[in-house]
Amino acid sequence: MTILVTGGCGYIGSHMTWCLHDAKEDFVVIDNLSTGFDWAIPQSAKLYEGEITDLDLLQTIFRNHDITAVIHFAGSIIVPESVSNPLKYYNNNTAASRTLIEACVKNNIKHFIFSSTAAVYGDPEVIPVSEDAPLTPLSPYGTSKLMTELMLRDTAAAHDFKYTALRYFNVAGADPEGRTGQSTKNATHLIKVACEAALGKRTHLGIFGDDFDTPDGTGVRDYIHVSDLASAHYLALKRLRDGGDSIVMNAGYGDGYSVLQVIDAVKAVSDVNFEVKKEPRRAGDSPKVVADNSRIMSNLDWKPQFDDLPTIVKHALDWEKKLQFKNSL
Ligand code: UDP
Repeated sequence: MTILVTGGCGYIGSHMTWCLHDAKEDFVVIDNLSTGFDWAIPQSAKLYEGEITDLDLLQTIFRNHDITAVIHFAGSIIVPESVSNPLKYYNNNTAASRTLIEACVKNNIKHFIFSSTAAVYGDPEVIPVSEDAPLTPLSPYGTSKLMTELMLRDTAAAHDFKYTALRYFNVAGADPEGRTGQSTKNATHLIKVACEAALGKRTHLGIFGDDFDTPDGTGVRDYIHVSDLASAHYLALKRLRDGGDSIVMNAGYGDGYSVLQVIDAVKAVSDVNFEVKKEPRRAGDSPKVVADNSRIMSNLDWKPQFDDLPTIVKHALDWEKKLQFKNSL
């Protein structure tokens, strides 16, 4: 019983590999190292460097290992880039996933965990947003992920194949033991950017709009610790192994924090009063996106360990300090 982790060298994927390592599961990784790092995964892990669209490589992996499940992270994730280059997203996310799913069906792989996104909801009308809300993504990124969800749904209806799609809210933080973290250069995510500002890697932090219809006027998001997200994937896999049916679930804590609250937390944890500037709204940003997480809470025995903003920030900041060292190597 070996698990194939696609995109296992990336931010969330590498936390997944450590989760599986800690659980003493057998796993192998496929990653093209376009945005991931081979040092981010356990040294003992087997890495196949290449594309998930390379059918020969997939066949080699299936021949060499008794793959019984796939956890699929590989893909592109930059929303503005998906607007300017949509076909890249329909290729790297939708078409590549189609090839991978087909290879799974052909090789009799019955369990598939997919990294989806709250971007499938677009600008949700009802908050907290449940899985049954209208699916109206605002970007090709969201659409490319939604299309993969639909392929999985139809594949599961036609074949002996079960999947779980986890719709991530705002993933942040880093491995509490400092083994991996968010290492992508030119990141745009708030907690990462604020940590960079606190460490002097940026001159300031911009607040993208302070006139939203929210308590303090800034955007509200549901920040989930990446290690809790990895453990949710593992529990989702165990549920399928135990005979659970295909399911789509929000992965968030159900708590909302504003940009100002995040800034306060980063300033408090870092003890640095970095400069903050008001800037115009970013195109396509929703005022508030918070998960209704009742489905994941009732279907998995998920007990988040790090559901606490200062803890998320501390782990992100610790990693950012370490990364400074790694980047200078
Ligand atoms: N944000 C901000 N400044 C930044 C980055 C983000 O004010 O430098 C805001 C953004 O407008 C949103 C929230 O922080 O309200 C979370 O944005 P992020 O890019 O982290 O995630 P998103 O929710 O867009 O996926």
